[in-house]
Amino acid sequence: MSEARRRYLALQKELGGSEIILAAAAVGRLGGEDEAIGRQGGRAVAEDKPSRPPAQPPSRPSAPPTRPAKHWTVDAPAIPTAPGIIVPGPERGLLAVPPPWNTLDEVAATIATCRKCFLCEGRTRTVPGEGNPRARLMFVGEGPGQTEDETGRPFVGRAGELLTQIIEAIELKRDDVFIANVVKCRPPQNRKPLPDEMAACWAYLERQIELVEPRALVALGATAAEAMLRVKKSLTELRGRVHSFRDIPLVVTYHPAALLRNPNWKKPTWDDIRIARQLLDR
Ligand code: URA
Ligand code: SF4
Repeated sequence: MSEARRRYLALQKELGGSEIILAAAAVGRLGGEDEAIGRQGGRAVAEDKPSRPPAQPPSRPSAPPTRPAKHWTVDAPAIPTAPGIIVPGPERGLLAVPPPWNTLDEVAATIATCRKCFLCEGRTRTVPGEGNPRARLMFVGEGPGQTEDETGRPFVGRAGELLTQIIEAIELKRDDVFIANVVKCRPPQNRKPLPDEMAACWAYLERQIELVEPRALVALGATAAEAMLRVKKSLTELRGRVHSFRDIPLVVTYHPAALLRNPNWKKPTWDDIRIARQLLDR
């Protein structure tokens, strides 16, 4: 079984056959890979036994179900009108110090050698974030996990795979969006970053948002929401509203890792993401 299929089936099992992961884009990508494997298998059979035609057509017996995906707009919730939290922009007076980085690459270069907090001690690689420098949609997670620490890229482990599928389900590509984290170095045992670590790392995320200038922000999980909205509230309190981070609309939803643990959060997440998607077209 291919690695892609194994992961697909594992996700499928955990999510209980989600509308999200059955979206056309995701099925197309994973199905395509398996089609190639199916063809290879068929050829091998033909070469071993040239006189016997294959008993079964070389179809894809274990292909993922291709239930037609609903378009993301079908039954999408309306953009909530309930007032959200407003984080105003920084006061940039005449005496304000100009921001120290002019490009995302400059931010990443500073992060690469940063030793401003304890998290630098345990990191393999820094994970500054990646994506379209002019993205319309920007996701913010908590901090790198093991795979991210090993690769230097955000959201590339199992939670990242799910995030990628969610992005594709709203008709975007991973390359279209920008993905970053509150802290850029992996916390030990994936613990939540401490307040002083988040504070030490904040200037990087702040500048990344300024440079990308997305039309909408999505905070993935309570830690990202707490860092950006400067409040400690439950996700229940923070969801269902559009907040404002320096005049950029911000939606809070569950972290994809939480979603893998609790499939009941899949539907509310899908609704939040579709609200964020609609903000791009406003
Ligand atoms: N979880 C996060 O919050 N960020 C990542 O980059 C990966 C997993
Ligand atoms: Fe620097 Fe942020 Fe890494 Fe801390 S987590 S060392 S502040 S880059």
